[in-house]
Amino acid sequence: MKNLVLLGGGYGNMRILHRLLPNNFPEDTMITLIDRTPFHSLKTEFYALAAGTSTDKEVRVTFPEHPRLDTVYGEITKIDTKEKLVYLDKDRTVQYDDLVIGLGCEDKYHDVPGAEEYTYSIQTIAKSRCTFEKLCGLPAGSTVAIVGAGLSGIELASELRESREDLKIKLFDRSHRILREFPEKLSNYVKSWFEKNNVEVIAESNITKVEPNLLFNHEDVIEVDSVVWTAGVQPVKVVRDIEDIEKDSKERPIINQYFQLINDEHVYVIGDCASSELPPSAQLAEEQAERVVKVLKARFKNEPLPEKMPEIKLKGYLGSLGKKHGFAHVMDTAVTGRLARLMKSGYLWFYKRQVES
Ligand SMILES: Cc1cc2nc3c(=O)[nH]c(=O)nc-3n(C[C@H](O)[C@H](O)[C@H](O)COP(=O)(O)OP(=O)(O)OC[C@H]3O[C@@H](n4cnc5c(N)ncnc54)[C@H](O)[C@@H]3O)c2cc1C
Repeated sequence: MKNLVLLGGGYGNMRILHRLLPNNFPEDTMITLIDRTPFHSLKTEFYALAAGTSTDKEVRVTFPEHPRLDTVYGEITKIDTKEKLVYLDKDRTVQYDDLVIGLGCEDKYHDVPGAEEYTYSIQTIAKSRCTFEKLCGLPAGSTVAIVGAGLSGIELASELRESREDLKIKLFDRSHRILREFPEKLSNYVKSWFEKNNVEVIAESNITKVEPNLLFNHEDVIEVDSVVWTAGVQPVKVVRDIEDIEKDSKERPIINQYFQLINDEHVYVIGDCASSELPPSAQLAEEQAERVVKVLKARFKNEPLPEKMPEIKLKGYLGSLGKKHGFAHVMDTAVTGRLARLMKSGYLWFYKRQVES
């Protein structure tokens, strides 16, 4: 039996499973899915888990079952592409013939002293649970700082505002205007939502140090009760540590148009941990997965690979401001308010239905 091993049951590899199961892969092949958690985590909803407005169960989906799908749960500690071996905790190893690495990303702290030690995170489900316990357990009137006003920082700040009206929330944005890379209409909408809902946005900030209950922004020292870090990501360590492969300046493995490592056609990399010109997103991971499926199917049939793979065109972005308002940038159109929020909720509903079926 050949073994197609999928590392990480995130958005990318869920799409691969969805396309290959139940019978789009050869009889002489089995699929092994490895993840530390026994379910697919809906990472795009971790802000709501951390803010206490979604339950743990609402942000996870069970993995599919199939007689030739083996699910292995544990911590992946090393990927050896020379020996074609994946190492796991408890001295376990898994041998592969083909490997798809979809292990996602973790926080990047940009060498800011104290950031790793003294801030909370929403990058994994376990860390989001800890963040929930901290934020929702804070005494009345406490101050929460959120460092980084990208999509996840904005969604966390607004959701936390709805969850805890009593908290002082400070959102630190490095740029001069929130959502700088989106149309100004969206920036203005989000800015006015924060003003109306008493979330302080500190523009052009530069966090230089974090200490227990203290945040250093330029020369200002700010007293805080808790800090959440949403200010940058990097591939997970086990991917950064893969030896003898080419990586880009962000330590992401460089891949060819088939999403294979440059010198190894048996190893594919997708999602947040793969080198790409496009910003990381669940949508990108899924689009990359679609293309890997195309390549795998051709290889299952010993057919030549397409000379040129179809270009990835992303549909846009959906963001929430609490449970009732939102913003979207879809097909070059900016949408704000309840409609945008409905689009986001509808998309989540549809996604869950699709992966649960
Ligand atoms: C709060 C928030 C909101 C977001 N909102 C959006 C959005 O609205 N739209 C959008 O497109 N994107 C959004 N994103 C980004 C999106 O979640 C990621 O781009 C997406 O999850 C990447 O998918 P992936 O398949 O690369 O990996 P992931 O979905 O991150 O999955 C990686 C998997 O690997 C497993 N894993 C990692 N390391 C190990 C290990 N060592 N051992 C075992 N298992 C391991 C994890 O448990 C996980 O299941 C958001 C992210 C956050 C944090």
